[in-house]
Order: sequence, then structure tokens, then C-alpha cells
Amino acid sequence: MSFLVDYHMHTTFSDGADTYPAYLEKARKKDLAEIGFTDHITLNPVEWSVQEIDYPVLKENLKSLCNNFSADVQVRFGIEVDYFEGRELEIKQLISYFPADYVIGSVHFLGEWNFDSDKSLYGKWTNDALYKMYFEQVQNAAKSGLFDVIGHFDLIKKFRCWPENDQTHLYEETLRVLKEADVVMELNTSGIDRPCGEFFPNKKILEMAAKIGVPITLGSDAHHPEQVARHFDTAVELLKEVGYTRITRFKNRQRGEISL
Ligand SMILES: [Zn+2]
Ligand SMILES: [Zn+2]
Repeated sequence: MSFLVDYHMHTTFSDGADTYPAYLEKARKKDLAEIGFTDHITLNPVEWSVQEIDYPVLKENLKSLCNNFSADVQVRFGIEVDYFEGRELEIKQLISYFPADYVIGSVHFLGEWNFDSDKSLYGKWTNDALYKMYFEQVQNAAKSGLFDVIGHFDLIKKFRCWPENDQTHLYEETLRVLKEADVVMELNTSGIDRPCGEFFPNKKILEMAAKIGVPITLGSDAHHPEQVARHFDTAVELLKEVGYTRITRFKNRQRGEISL
């Protein structure tokens, strides 16, 4: 698998369990070509994000890791940044501080509710209503022009929040927005290990994405070195099956391609 990339992982700078060398070591064992570290950067003060006081250290450490790549695995400077509607200028400013190779835009909040870690408000709306609210934010994130990649496309299903009615139209509409905005989607393999038990996004959505021509990249969302490149064999098989022949790679916020 020496051509593959894993573009989504978290270290102790945010909510991950270990530091850069441990993830690198695992990436070497998995024979990856590139990995990207994407610790959480968010405007909302939360404990699972990089604290502002640590920004300079992260910047310096990761930049030097990117510059001193070993011959086997190259390191990319990524960040996973929360999207908040109406705060685009602040987000832009935040992103500009980091010499990123790529920026993942993620929706973890609906209003002030961090639905990704706080289960208390599920049931307050119908699941269909939640899907509508969530995908509206994903569409806005894609249209904002702030991000290179949209993270975990259908994260709203994480805790088995399944829609009451078929949402194909909503997925398709959102994928068309990604295509129009020229934003890459990630196949985030962490979903299989979550209560929802399937990739973000699932096969049906991937099929639509391939047909519409939304570019794709690959991320494990590892929060522990053991999770680097998790389920990547299945993921690559699935990507080929739905019609993808290439995945996207990044450097300096410019894109390249890797043939599958
Ligand atoms: Zn995330
Ligand atoms: Zn993540």
C-alpha cells in the first residue's frame, strides 16, 4: 500500500492519545506514502481542541516534521477546523496562522450543541429535521471557500441517528454543492468503529459522489497510533467498486492525485 495517504489524525495537541513519532512509526509499519496530522482547531473553547497557547509550538513542531521528512513517510501539515455559520472571517483569520498543506472543514456543532460528543439533545427534533440542519451547515461550509476537504460527510449518523425518511435528495444536493464549490470529500474510515457501524459516508453516498465527480481523499480519524490507516483495505476496495480511480493528495494547499 505504499502509495496511500492517511490525512486525518489527532495527537495529544488536541484529543489524541499520543505524539507525532508514535503515529509516524505506525504509518511506517502500514507502509503509507504520506500522513497528515489534523489536530482540532476551533473558535469555541472546548477541551478536545488545541489550546490557543499551544498554537506556536504546534506550528513549529509540525512544520519542522514536514520539512525533515524521512525517506519512507512524508508528513503533511493539516488542521481540522470547525465551521460556524456567520463566523467565516474569524475562521479565515484562524486558518491563516497555520502553514497548512490542507484544511479539513468539519461540522461538529449545530448552534451551540456539540452533537458529536454530547448526546443529550438527540430526540429534541425529529432525525429528519436534524439531517436537514446538519447538511445545511455542511453545504455552507463547502460554499464558504475556507476548506479544502469536508470531514466525515454524514457525521450526524454517528450515534445511530438514522433518518425517518429517505434522505437521498439531501445527500445528492449536498454532493452537488461540494462539486460546484470544488471541495474534496474524505472517506473517513472511523465510522465503522462508532455506534453507526459504517464509513463516513456510506457506500450509497460514495456511489453518488463518484457519479457526480466529487474528488475524494482518505482519512482514518485516528485518535490512537493503532488506528492509523484502519480499515484501509476495505476502503480502497470500496472506492474502486463505486468507480473512483484516483484519490487526492495535498501540499501547500495545492492538489495532486494518486492512482488507486
Ligand atoms: Zn471531526
Ligand atoms: Zn477528526
